[in-house]
Amino acid sequence: MGSANHNLFFRLGLISVIALAVGFLLDAPGWTLAIALLVWSILELRRFRQLSNWVHNNDDQAELPESKGRWGELFDGLSRLQRRQNSRETLLRGVIDRFQQSSSALPDAIIIIDRNNNMEWWNETASRLLGLRPLTDRGRPVMNLLRDPRFIRYYNRGQYTDPITLPSPVKSEFSIQYQITRFGDGDRLLVARDVSRLIRLEQTRQDFVANASHELRTPLTVIRGYLETFLDNEMPQHMQRGLKAMQQQARRMENLVSDLLLLSRLEASQAVSSEQPIQIHSILRHILDAAKELGRDKQQNFKLEMDQKFDLCGQEVELHSAFSNLVFNAVRYTQTGGDISIRWWVDAKGGHFAVTDNGPGIESIHLPRLTERFYRVDESRSSASGGTGLGLAIVKHVLVRHGGELTINSKLNQGSTFCCHFPTEMLSHQDDNDLVKIS
Ligand code: ADP
Repeated sequence: MGSANHNLFFRLGLISVIALAVGFLLDAPGWTLAIALLVWSILELRRFRQLSNWVHNNDDQAELPESKGRWGELFDGLSRLQRRQNSRETLLRGVIDRFQQSSSALPDAIIIIDRNNNMEWWNETASRLLGLRPLTDRGRPVMNLLRDPRFIRYYNRGQYTDPITLPSPVKSEFSIQYQITRFGDGDRLLVARDVSRLIRLEQTRQDFVANASHELRTPLTVIRGYLETFLDNEMPQHMQRGLKAMQQQARRMENLVSDLLLLSRLEASQAVSSEQPIQIHSILRHILDAAKELGRDKQQNFKLEMDQKFDLCGQEVELHSAFSNLVFNAVRYTQTGGDISIRWWVDAKGGHFAVTDNGPGIESIHLPRLTERFYRVDESRSSASGGTGLGLAIVKHVLVRHGGELTINSKLNQGSTFCCHFPTEMLSHQDDNDLVKIS
């Protein structure tokens, strides 16, 4: 820049000196200097106009005019800058094109939502799956287009660890799973995928289990009936052993079938439809009596502690089944003379039902899988106990339907505590406020 200015002043000086010299010869130095400077200025202005035209020309591919000298150097520099800018732009456009092509090839719908909840961008799958129109919907709030109240609740909750599955806004027979991820400064990425096939498969599986269990019931009843009749009659000793074993196994199969049916029914609907206050205190007393009967030969020590202030709302049959599963497990797995305590209490977090035993306990690696169907810690111990392998799966499903959750604390050779937690909304208040203890 410094040398360019130098050059400029040198040329200006040289022109002035030559004009003055010619002026002295013609005896009019003022005039020749003025004319020379005017011509020089006009030439410079022309170049400047060419540059200005080029700058204001919107076509960024337009070539710069040819020029020599100082202006030529400037034009060359600008030309190089323009070429570099063009190639950078081509590169970026290529990256964006590739991103758009690959995102439209994705089977999942992707929507970028800005911090004001407006939809900024989406791929082609989103238009197809959710019916978004590129021309009219861009910049509109996402909740104007996905209006299902369950989606709005999920969106506003702000915690997106689990996805949500809802009927498609375009075709209600399709199911769409939505998952939101936060990024940037309050922006969100919404991924939606068609899970109709998965849901149909899951439904087929549930129907199959329910139908198969139902169909197995009748033949089992007939077999059990005949076995009972045979055993009631005088039978030879060698046959009696076999018939008793058959009767025991038929009973086990009946339990299995009824647990499978119950589980299918629980899976069929998401949440309990009608919640009524259930008499938790009398249910727990009944369960305690049944538990004592079940562990008749084990002489275990039972303790029941109940907060009388609150009852629980929900489906009595389901809750009875869940609570008795936990108590009967404690009886079956705890050794002779062991201690079993049952507690129902309410605190600021909600209602809690806990069964604690000082039985064999469970190794921590098994705990996360314990509520899976047919998951057993120790096959020999479990079959001897006569369980179906579905007890804890039933407990988990019942709790999910009641908005609750199951926690398991257990230490090998020390004992276990299975605790059901219910939200405050599921509690109903009682007038008398005693704490009842039964041992
Ligand atoms: P099962 O019919 O086999 O009892 P569950 O689903 O009720 O099936 O229990 C799953 C497994 O958890 C059992 O096989 C058993 O190993 C373990 N378990 C459940 N309750 C207890 C308990 N109170 N103490 C020790 N182990 C338990």
